[in-house]
Amino acid sequence: MPLSAYLYTQKIIAPLLNDNEWRHIVKSLKQSPDYLHFKCCGSPVYARTSSRGLRHFVHKNTDHCNYVSESEDHLQMKLEIYKACQELGWNAELEYIGEKFRADVLAVKDERKIAFEIQLSRQDLQTTINRQNILHKAGIRCAWFFNRIPKGYRTNEFFTCIRN
Ligand SMILES: [Zn+2]
Repeated sequence: MPLSAYLYTQKIIAPLLNDNEWRHIVKSLKQSPDYLHFKCCGSPVYARTSSRGLRHFVHKNTDHCNYVSESEDHLQMKLEIYKACQELGWNAELEYIGEKFRADVLAVKDERKIAFEIQLSRQDLQTTINRQNILHKAGIRCAWFFNRIPKGYRTNEFFTCIRN
């Protein structure tokens, strides 16, 4: 359930649309699921509103995509982080897809790049370190939001707190 999809090259963020824009998107997608597309794959796009009222997009199929389904809490958190980054004057991108990684939110200001990753499902320490390494090599610091801290985690130089 991503929050964003593309209209040609324009990124559409479902919960940030006004009612008229959303109605237009829903109607256009009903007429043609190709009206919008995902950057990750060629799946047809559906527009949906959750029981709690969060507008988002849905893959019709994920056969050719490694997109991992996200809970509504995950979507809501990433939206709030995105908005907070924008409010603080960072150039933020929601659901960033890089060459070797994805980030829930990537925030950029001057030379600084910070990825925000929400991890509500369990993730082991080695997977966390591997993902952190990929970001580190790309010159990006990562702020994790864990529901459960990976087993074996110890504060060290590699995992530092962001103070700015
Ligand atoms: Zn996809």
